[in-house]
Amino acid sequence: MGRRILIVDALPTRRIVMKAKLGAAHYDVVMACDLSEARTKLKSAPCDVIFMDAGLEGMDGKTVFSFCTAIKTNPLTRSVPVIMTTDTGDDAQMIAAFRAGFDEVIRRPVGERVLLAQLRAVMRRCAADGGGREDQLMLDELSDGVRDDTARPARISVIARTRAKAQSCADQIKEASGAAMVLDVRDFGRVLLDVEDGPGASDAAIDTIVLMVAAGEEEAALTQLSDLRSSSAGSEAGLILTLDQDRSIFAARAFDLGADNVVSSDISAAELAIRARKQARYKQGQDARRQSLHDGLRMAVTDPLTGLYNRRYATRKLAQIAGAGDAYGLLMLDLDHFKKINDLHGHAAGDDVLTYISDALGANLRDSDLLARIGGEEFLVALPGATRAQAVATAERLRKIIDRARIPLSKGGPALKVTMSIGLFHSTGAAIEVDELLARADTALYRSKAHGRNRVSISKAA
Ligand code: GH3
Ligand code: MG
Ligand code: MG
Repeated sequence: MGRRILIVDALPTRRIVMKAKLGAAHYDVVMACDLSEARTKLKSAPCDVIFMDAGLEGMDGKTVFSFCTAIKTNPLTRSVPVIMTTDTGDDAQMIAAFRAGFDEVIRRPVGERVLLAQLRAVMRRCAADGGGREDQLMLDELSDGVRDDTARPARISVIARTRAKAQSCADQIKEASGAAMVLDVRDFGRVLLDVEDGPGASDAAIDTIVLMVAAGEEEAALTQLSDLRSSSAGSEAGLILTLDQDRSIFAARAFDLGADNVVSSDISAAELAIRARKQARYKQGQDARRQSLHDGLRMAVTDPLTGLYNRRYATRKLAQIAGAGDAYGLLMLDLDHFKKINDLHGHAAGDDVLTYISDALGANLRDSDLLARIGGEEFLVALPGATRAQAVATAERLRKIIDRARIPLSKGGPALKVTMSIGLFHSTGAAIEVDELLARADTALYRSKAHGRNRVSISKAA
């Protein structure tokens, strides 16, 4: 079954025209004549897209704006695209709509092809945006549509035939917006060069690209548009195309090639500014979700004090190394009489020692080695590909480095000295369970402790 679209409009003829256009494209169309009927319809079955006429008024003084905000602040419905349709679409209405959380405002009359292409563009953007429903961050953002108190001001790039033209548009956007934003201008010929070969880090941070297209340049601009979409910097940025009047024949193709908005070049700077910021918000939301996912993944596998991998990660990784069939060495390291350091100098000093040791171990291993903190003052090192002699040499080297270290404390005072006992297990690649591996290295470590500490013992079974 097609996607379900709710059309809310008080005027029967307009509802029917919309239904005919959308129904022809195999959408499953539901209609409501006012906001309370819309609420009932939404309760009975969720919708994939909602169209609302700007002129609707609820009995309780509710407007389409507050209705939209309610949808956009509800975690269950906030990624549903909500589109306002209007005859006027003046600046004040436009700004109110985007602030309320509308994803798009469509001015009537609109041809069927453009309408359908525009609908697909909105659904595409909202689907990317809905990637983290539970993400409180995005919910907060959407609750006020295009609020200005973002962590990072919107980065908007204006591209036109000449730099001067782009600059004048950028100036107008800046003036109309009043919000903090970073504007950057480029001319047509240099866009791809900049995007592909330029300083990648800054280009990747572009939130919205405004592509100004003069009459006669549309074909070239459409090529540029799809190139931008497939470039790394432009693949997620909001893309707004401005077309000269009467060139809307290109609009449908522009949407299908990846434009988020296609607007007439005579719209006000205020509207362009609010659209640019709206698109920037989608992009920033996507960036924030990716970052929080990344942070979450990192937190799940690392130890907060030292930044080393934790036991959970280490045992998984060790299973991989042991299962590869190659030789490897496994070291279990435990600081000697560590409890005394805490007892004599305090817990913070103990933490300083642990951090210092972690850094020292890391600095003396290869990138391909595994280093993890698997307990309070216990570390694990795996040496993939190491021969027995290499593993023994590495263990000795690490032991000596710690033995010679004089560890400064953040509170000041004399540097501390600490030693470390090591248990070593070496395998030539035969299959063995991780628990068994760990137990053998542990047994060797225990012998180092029993024989006076600050030494390396090798598992006999190895
Ligand atoms: P041994 O030579 O036999 O290993 O003696 P030990 O004192 O090192 O071993 P024990 O297991 O008795 O004590 C370990 C101490 O490590 C106890 C605990 O308070 C301390 N510890 C564990 N985690 C942390 C931590 O994150 N920070 C600090 N400062 N101390 C920790
Ligand atoms: Mg210890
Ligand atoms: Mg211990």
